[in-house]
Amino acid sequence: MMVEIMLAAALVPQPVSMKTGTGSVPAKNAKVAHVSDASIPPEGYRLSVRPDGVTVASSSDAGRFYAAQTLAQLKEGDAYPVVEIEDAPQYKWRGLLIDDCRHFFGKEKIKRVIDVMSQHKMNRLHWHLTDDQGWRLDIPGYPELARHASVRAASAKHGTRPHVNMKNYSHLLNGEKYGPFFYTEADIKEILAYAAKRHVVIVPEIELPGHVYAALSAYPELACFPERLKGKGPLCAWGIEKDVLCLGNDKAVKFMEDVLDYVCRLFPGDVVHIGGDECPQDRWKTCPKCQARMKKEGIADVHGLQPWITRHFVKFLAARGRRPIGWDEYLLGDVPKSAIGMSWRAGGGGAGHQFLTPLECVKRGHDLVMTPRTFCYLDYGQGLKDDPFQYIGGKVTLEKSYAFNPCEGIPPELREHILGGQGNNWSEYTWNEYDLDWKMWPRACAIAEAVWTGDSKPGFADFMRRMETHRKRLISQGVNCAPLR
Ligand SMILES: [Zn+2]
Repeated sequence: MMVEIMLAAALVPQPVSMKTGTGSVPAKNAKVAHVSDASIPPEGYRLSVRPDGVTVASSSDAGRFYAAQTLAQLKEGDAYPVVEIEDAPQYKWRGLLIDDCRHFFGKEKIKRVIDVMSQHKMNRLHWHLTDDQGWRLDIPGYPELARHASVRAASAKHGTRPHVNMKNYSHLLNGEKYGPFFYTEADIKEILAYAAKRHVVIVPEIELPGHVYAALSAYPELACFPERLKGKGPLCAWGIEKDVLCLGNDKAVKFMEDVLDYVCRLFPGDVVHIGGDECPQDRWKTCPKCQARMKKEGIADVHGLQPWITRHFVKFLAARGRRPIGWDEYLLGDVPKSAIGMSWRAGGGGAGHQFLTPLECVKRGHDLVMTPRTFCYLDYGQGLKDDPFQYIGGKVTLEKSYAFNPCEGIPPELREHILGGQGNNWSEYTWNEYDLDWKMWPRACAIAEAVWTGDSKPGFADFMRRMETHRKRLISQGVNCAPLR
C-alpha cells in the first residue's frame, strides 16, 4: 500500500513525483533490474523500490544514470526506503560554468566538479577556457598560446581589487608568476571521457572578439594596434579591456577559425560557446583595417562589426555540425536565429550598446540559456554571517538562487525557446578549489533543483529541510560546501 506523504528522504533535486511506502529494503539484497520503456521522456526514469527488489525503467542511458543518482541519495544506512518515483527534468540545459582563466583549477578539480554536478543531475559544463588573463588550451600551430598566453606575471593579492581602468595597480599585485597553466589534448580527452560517463556535455568557450588579450599578447599582429601589445603578457587586473581582436585583419579571423576548427574536432558536444560579451569598439573606430573592412562589407556603423564576425562563425560552426552559443550582447544586430543566446545581464551591465531582454531575444527566434547574474552568479556574495572569502560584489543568497525561474517573463507560447539555465562560477576573486566549492555549493544545489523541477519546484522551506542532510552528504565527500545561512 503506497501513500503520498511528506518525505524524510533528502533528495536534491526533488523528484517530480514520489510516493513512499512502509518499510525498507536492505541495500545488499536490492538487486536492480533495468527495463527499457520508450514512453519515458529522455533523461527521465521510473524507480521502484519494493521488498522484492529495485526496478528502474528508462528510455535512455541518461535516465538510467539519473535513477542511480536518486538511488544513491535514497540510501539510509544500509537500506533503501520503499518508494515509487517518476521523474524527468523540465529543462534540457542544466549547467555550471567554471572560469579556468582568472584562476586555474586543473584536471582533477574539473573532474570532481563533473562528479558532483552530475549527482545533482546537471548535464552541461560550460568551460571558460580563454580570456584576457589567461589562455588555457594548447592549440596546434600556435605554440605561443601555451608558452606565453598561459602565464601571467602576477595576480591580485588576496583582498585587493586591481582593475584595468586604474592608472596604476602594480601595488595590488603579488609579484608571483602564475602559470604556465593550460590543458593538453590528452588532458581534454581524459576529461571528456570522464564527463561522458556521467552524462555531462562539455561546452568549451573560446571568447571572441573581446576578452582575447592573453592571445593578443602572444600574437600582437592580431590586434588593431600591435605596438600596444608588444612585450606584454596576459592581464593581471580585472575589468573590461579595450584591446580586442582586429576584425579588419584576415589573419585574426583565420586565427579564430583555426582555434574553433580544432575545438570542433576535439570536443564532441553539439554547441560551442564563442563568448561575445563586453567587447568595446574603441579600437575598431580608429583602426584603418577595421574601417576598410566596414567599407568593403557595406557596414555603416561600428556596431555592425561584431554581428559580422558572429554571422561568419555561425556559418563556420554550422558547417562543422555545431550551433554557436554566446553571451546576450552577441545577439545585438543582424544575427541568424540559429545562434543561441546566454542571457546574463538581467537589465544592464556588460558593454553592449543596448540591452536585449530575454523576451526580445526569444521574439527574434533565438533559443536562450538563462543565467541572470541576479540569481545565477555564484561569485556574488551569499549573505552569510561569517564568510572568510572575497566576492566580486553583489548579493545572491541561497534563497535567491532557489527562486531562479528560467521562464520568468516569457509567455507560454515562447517558452520552448528557453533551454534551461546555469550557475556561473567566475573566478576573479576565487583563488583555489576550497574557495570555489564554498561559492558553488549549496547555491548550485538550488539552481539544480530549479532547472530540474521547473514548475513543480517544492518551495524553499522544503528545500532547506532536505539540504540539512544533503549538505552533510556533500561535506562527507570532501566538498567544501558553505553553511546554509
Ligand atoms: Zn582593427
